Amino acid sequence: MNLRQLFLRHIAQTTELPLMLEVERGEGIYLYDTQGKAYIDMISGISVSSLGHCHPAVVKAVQEQVTRYMHTMVYGEHIQAPQVQLATLLTEQLPDELNSVYFVNSGSEATEAAMKLAKRITGRREIIACRRAYHGSTQGSISLMSDDYFTRPFRPLLPDIQHIDFNCEYCLHKITERTACVIVETVQAESGVTLPRNDYLKKLRQRCDETGTLLVFDEIQVGYGRTGTLFAFEQYDVQPDILTLAKAMGGGMPIGAFVASRERMMAFADNPILGHITTFGGHPVTCAAALATLQTLLNTDHISTVKKKEKLIRDMLVHPAILDIRSAGFLMAVEFQSFDIVQELIKECLAEGVIVDWFLFNNHCIRLAPPLIITEAEIRLTCEKLLKVIDKVYREGVKADVKRLSY
Ligand code: PMP
Repeated sequence: MNLRQLFLRHIAQTTELPLMLEVERGEGIYLYDTQGKAYIDMISGISVSSLGHCHPAVVKAVQEQVTRYMHTMVYGEHIQAPQVQLATLLTEQLPDELNSVYFVNSGSEATEAAMKLAKRITGRREIIACRRAYHGSTQGSISLMSDDYFTRPFRPLLPDIQHIDFNCEYCLHKITERTACVIVETVQAESGVTLPRNDYLKKLRQRCDETGTLLVFDEIQVGYGRTGTLFAFEQYDVQPDILTLAKAMGGGMPIGAFVASRERMMAFADNPILGHITTFGGHPVTCAAALATLQTLLNTDHISTVKKKEKLIRDMLVHPAILDIRSAGFLMAVEFQSFDIVQELIKECLAEGVIVDWFLFNNHCIRLAPPLIITEAEIRLTCEKLLKVIDKVYREGVKADVKRLSY
């Protein structure tokens, strides 16, 4: 059997029609398949590869660390230089109160632990999240999801979860003295890019302060420069009590984190001790990769050029088939008439050597989330390819053989 057949046989499947791109290697904005064909990764592996694939600084950091030591002990006991240096550099970029970092293995785990920390600190049970938000896929984090299709089969989920609409000022009255925390994405990603409007985040902050509720910003997808600042919340003049991070943080290696004040974080060290336990969280190799990633982002102009390059994409992507473009820096939703068109576009883009995708809660939109390192010339080339594909699908219509990519 070849690799494709073995993939289908032995790798647990999550859809009936996986993309099946057989990856040979990655470099910069490109992935290469085993036939040598190059693909421009316009989604950065879902907002992960912000420095592109196999960034030399990240590769070097990983190579150096694996020769020194890998796992030594479960999280929080040994002093490991890459972990401590990363936490120090990361907290230097954050408001003074966000000075203590707990490293975990994924975004979902960061969500889980943030929920636990909020309950432990406040002694309250209720947690509020927004409709059309995504915070992860574990039992706890999926409980925050409002979408019935994705959650119904997994019930019972966590009790005491309430949902409010993002940007709904009226809904804020649902936050009360019973609420341990409110978790929001600073910019909603999977809803098809929804930006906070009319000082919504400030009003949310104010309501949380009134009720003694902790405010958690999930910047797992929008953090690390994607929106044009290192953290998206910097653009809204409001700060969270707990910040969750993952995805782009590791430069392609798996790492997540939640950040809070040292005082609050100490709640995990007492009654019970070991309030959150992880064997691999803060692994020295992933921390070395994450340190190199953060250093690179801070020492280059990748983040500061995002807004200019966002504008270039918006200016270039003009076509009668495009109904709307919503964007927060390099997180962009390009809207079309139907899911069938979106699927056809994804398929045709792949044939053209451009990787795009859709959104979990918005299937009328194409997701664009390019690596921050993409150059203006590469943007021009990519947009020309995209317009060519859009034009083809617009002229020829959706072919009958397009099957649903998912639900
Ligand atoms: N929060 C947000 C906003 C996300 O986009 C994601 C991943 N798509 C997660 C949480 C969960 O992260 P992970 O897949 O690493 O568990």
